[in-house]
Amino acid sequence: PKTAPGAATGPDVKHMKWWGWGVEGVAFHHEDKPNFAPFVKKMVGVDLWADAVTGAPSFDDLDIPASHLTEPVASALATIVGEGNVVSGDLERVVHTYGKSIRDLFRIRGGVFPRVPDVVVYPATESEVAKIVAAAVEHDLVLIPFGGGSNIAGSLEPMAQEQRTVVSLDMGRLDRVLDIDEDAGLARIQAGAQGPDIEEQLNAKGWTLGHFPDSFTHSTLGGWVATRSSGMQSDKFGDIADITRGLRVVRPEGVVVLRPLPSTSTGPSLREMILGSEGRLGIITEVTAQVHRIPEKREILAYFFPTWEAGLRAMQAIAESDATPSVTRVSNSFETEMSLATSKESKGISALLNQGVQKFMQLKGWDLSKICLSFIGYEGSSEHVDRNEKLVSKIVKKHGGFGVGKGPGVLYDQKKFDTPYLRDFFMDHGGAADVSETAAPWSKLLPLYNEVYAAAGRAFEKIGVQGLLMAHLSHSYHSGACLYFTFAFEHGDDALGQYDVVKKAIQDAFIQEGGTLSHHHGVGLEHAPWLADDVSAAGAGLVQTLFDATDSQRIFNPGKVT
Ligand code: FAD
Repeated sequence: PKTAPGAATGPDVKHMKWWGWGVEGVAFHHEDKPNFAPFVKKMVGVDLWADAVTGAPSFDDLDIPASHLTEPVASALATIVGEGNVVSGDLERVVHTYGKSIRDLFRIRGGVFPRVPDVVVYPATESEVAKIVAAAVEHDLVLIPFGGGSNIAGSLEPMAQEQRTVVSLDMGRLDRVLDIDEDAGLARIQAGAQGPDIEEQLNAKGWTLGHFPDSFTHSTLGGWVATRSSGMQSDKFGDIADITRGLRVVRPEGVVVLRPLPSTSTGPSLREMILGSEGRLGIITEVTAQVHRIPEKREILAYFFPTWEAGLRAMQAIAESDATPSVTRVSNSFETEMSLATSKESKGISALLNQGVQKFMQLKGWDLSKICLSFIGYEGSSEHVDRNEKLVSKIVKKHGGFGVGKGPGVLYDQKKFDTPYLRDFFMDHGGAADVSETAAPWSKLLPLYNEVYAAAGRAFEKIGVQGLLMAHLSHSYHSGACLYFTFAFEHGDDALGQYDVVKKAIQDAFIQEGGTLSHHHGVGLEHAPWLADDVSAAGAGLVQTLFDATDSQRIFNPGKVT
């Protein structure tokens, strides 16, 4: 019996497909990209022309644990939000169980559900959230705030052994920009608003938040804050930690109100404490974010470098220079090859290479197997953009690179939110792919990169696969940058066991070489084993003490981060 009190389906809140990325009916196709299948065959041995191995699973085949929701709890929640906003149907509960990491996708496709939320509740106001928190205290419930469900750090799933009623608190009805202080460039925005909701409402008044993670279309402001997210244009607009100025966080003793101040000296930063808290310190209902006027001009230019090292050094030189681009990104040769393989022959980078760029590289004596593609973005007044393009062009030239204009950047910009669909497609064909990203000082980036390659190589050998590891640098800072690695292989029967070996090798290398466990994906359950190594045992103990002392009843998303 799977019926529990509560409605079967919920209000009109956008969710991703339960078994993969994005909206139903949209998928990755390679038929119009003739170089893609040969690339995948060469790099990981998977034959994409063979029939799909799996494909979208059938929901009816899943064995979903029954909801433990009791009548008193259901009616307490219904009194707060209305009956239609308390939902205990199987599909809703499954959608709210996991994020979108490879571990999540393998489990959900395989029907592995150690614990599923018992009920999903949809508040529409902060005062409803406060009443739900009070009900959680009274009825001894677990509350797991849910934004877009896009995290890849294991930040959402209920702990397997949890005996109490688990409530997924879906923030999706809190999706409005409430107010813009045009004088200060500050916008009050509800935490459940997804990327497109936010930009649509801000753009209508001439403003932008400037936060564009690759998951933009399906993630929320509250989720970004709770995981310390970073978007593509972070070099100009900052990470979400910089963008977030004020916060409202609902806790059992009241609402923590942090006013939007440009800077403040009020002891340890509560704002920083909430950033990255992954639901463990309360429910973020509202964020006051710094916003910017929509720039007059916005361009992303593409460049090529002869080697990865040259590209890396150029990004460092740009960070040290007077130039202030919005995006600095360079892919290593493997990722460059992948970009070429995914672009249509008649368009983008492939077309450029065919039109003579490749000949030019050969004339310069470049080894074509080592070339690295870079995208650098510029935003602001025409004068600012022109000046910055000139400054960057000089640096690129000094490091042996050259620019190939706007065309590929336009395409990259248009297509970047489609890329996540590729992973589901790869899984359908027996592949496993995921990412690990870090940040480290400039002085440590190259040794770290080399060690990650060595460690992943050993891991691939250990699990007996021909693995592919790709990397890019993005998000540059004064003292260092983020390195982002994507790994892929054809898995055997124990896909997640194989994944664990590779993931651990890469994460260990990050820590050993002076990098952090994650630059922008958070800790969750996935990265928790490396927390003490990253911030010291005493540091991790301090975080644990904070959670224990502020949530002795273990209501708020227990088990995550520490
Ligand atoms: P969820 O996944 O719903 O929740 C994440 C955590 O935040 C959970 O612990 C949850 O309890 C907590 N939480 C959510 N809302 C609240 C709230 N209102 N109050 C308190 N706690 C809350 N991340 C980046 O930073 N940059 C990227 O470019 C990027 N690209 C991605 C691409 C893909 C294909 C995927 C799958 C993920 C990507 N991510 C990226 C990771 C993910 O999108 C981020 O972690 C994002 O910030 C999660 O937001 P969400 O709204 O989906 O949160």
